[in-house]
Amino acid sequence: MSDKGGPKHVVIVGSGFAGLGCARKLALRKEVRVTLIDKNNYHQFQPLLYQVATSLLAPDDIAVSLRKLFRTHPNVDLKLAEVVSIDPKAKTVTTKSGEVYQGDYLVLAAGSQPNFFRTPGAAEHSFPLYSLNDAERLRSRILEVFEDADRDPKLVEKGALNFVIVGGGPTGTEMAGALAEMINSTMASEYHDLAVTGAKVYLVDHGHAVLGPFSERAHEYAARVLKRDGVQIRLGTSVKEVAPGHVMLSDGTRIETHLVIWGGGLMAAPLAAQTGLPQGRGGRIDVRPDLTVEGFPGVYALGDFANIPSPGGGALPQLGSVALQTGYWTAQHILYEIKNIAHFPFHYHDKGFMAMIGRNAAIAEIGEHRHELHGPVAFAAWLGVHSYLMTGVRNRIEAFIEWAWDYFSASRGPQELDRSDAARIDWGEDGDTDEEEKS
Ligand SMILES: Cc1cc2nc3c(=O)[nH]c(=O)nc-3n(C[C@H](O)[C@H](O)[C@H](O)COP(=O)(O)OP(=O)(O)OC[C@H]3O[C@@H](n4cnc5c(N)ncnc54)[C@H](O)[C@@H]3O)c2cc1C
Repeated sequence: MSDKGGPKHVVIVGSGFAGLGCARKLALRKEVRVTLIDKNNYHQFQPLLYQVATSLLAPDDIAVSLRKLFRTHPNVDLKLAEVVSIDPKAKTVTTKSGEVYQGDYLVLAAGSQPNFFRTPGAAEHSFPLYSLNDAERLRSRILEVFEDADRDPKLVEKGALNFVIVGGGPTGTEMAGALAEMINSTMASEYHDLAVTGAKVYLVDHGHAVLGPFSERAHEYAARVLKRDGVQIRLGTSVKEVAPGHVMLSDGTRIETHLVIWGGGLMAAPLAAQTGLPQGRGGRIDVRPDLTVEGFPGVYALGDFANIPSPGGGALPQLGSVALQTGYWTAQHILYEIKNIAHFPFHYHDKGFMAMIGRNAAIAEIGEHRHELHGPVAFAAWLGVHSYLMTGVRNRIEAFIEWAWDYFSASRGPQELDRSDAARIDWGEDGDTDEEEKS
């Protein structure tokens, strides 16, 4: 808590787009001191995780040291810790190692975790893509199956080069496009003795289109690009079980595979259940239009961690631009509160939906009227919005040049197989059938 008359103390949990946006605004103000707590000592840029997973970018390219970011802001105290519980009444948070931090304001921005919807085996055997750690594990596993198949081509019959991506939303679609491109361009030229053409990428979704939230034209465009690159799209189909060596689909198909990538859905980070606060859809904290929690003035929930009311009804989507704007807005709201200035509810400035399906294929639906762009123009819009998300974290121009270079060149970045824990495969386990796919 603050000393009487001293700066007010703001405790922020999570340094994603939302928590970091809030901390960076408050860092500039003398009337507050901030404790920013995260279980990692870096901010990670989730929209580019799939590029790390497919060796297009290095992990360092999408992670930024929090210490570096705040080195000139003595009013921001960073704590590397995992918060395990919250008392919203006392405005305290408790960490795994037992420290307790009390604030005048609590800002909860712990983000999401994958939602496996209780699919048997999914949590144990699939590879989610939500954190830098996930992306590095996935990269190693992709490289390992190619190495193993190169050493023993018979493993291809055991599904070594079958990749199953669960979920046809932006995460699954971007991953499918990038993986197909990696196989077709890089792997085909680097593995001289391996029949890389035997590789299969499956994209499975229980809905009836890929990129569900986009328009019908966008569904068709995305499906066309993915099919052109060899992705097999299985719509109206869900994954019933994930085993170490295969997946079972709802239509009875069994696909032999040692790499299932989970982009099937998200829910609030586990901390949400330890807050004593009302949880709505996806376990997210229900907030009022000013992002505070009913009955707990001074306690805010932001970004992916919250169900934020949308003016049209329902909740705002889990997007970087929503999270960043809630962070900025909350900082301003706290400053108004301190000065007893009247304020307005949070208003989201819609930046639209975007997805990159491959180097030459992007889709963007811009603004509230969803003006639709495809191809290079959409790619330019994608760059613009992602540079906006990087504001303050990295130099905008630097980011533009790097990404544009990467887009127009055919280069691939790091291909070190450095996570042997995730890479190692027991080919005897659940891989004993000779049939690659049975219906
Ligand atoms: C693969 C992928 C691709 C995406 N692509 C796009 C895109 O192209 N465009 C777009 O707008 N959005 C995209 N998104 C969504 C966007 O990344 C999220 O909406 C955004 O990151 C949410 O920000 P946040 O600050 O709420 O949470 P997060 O960014 O998840 O940050 C949460 C932070 O809290 C920390 N944390 C969690 N629990 C604890 C704890 N108990 N104790 C301490 N710290 C904790 C985490 O370490 C993390 O730093 C994508 C998401 C994913 C997963």
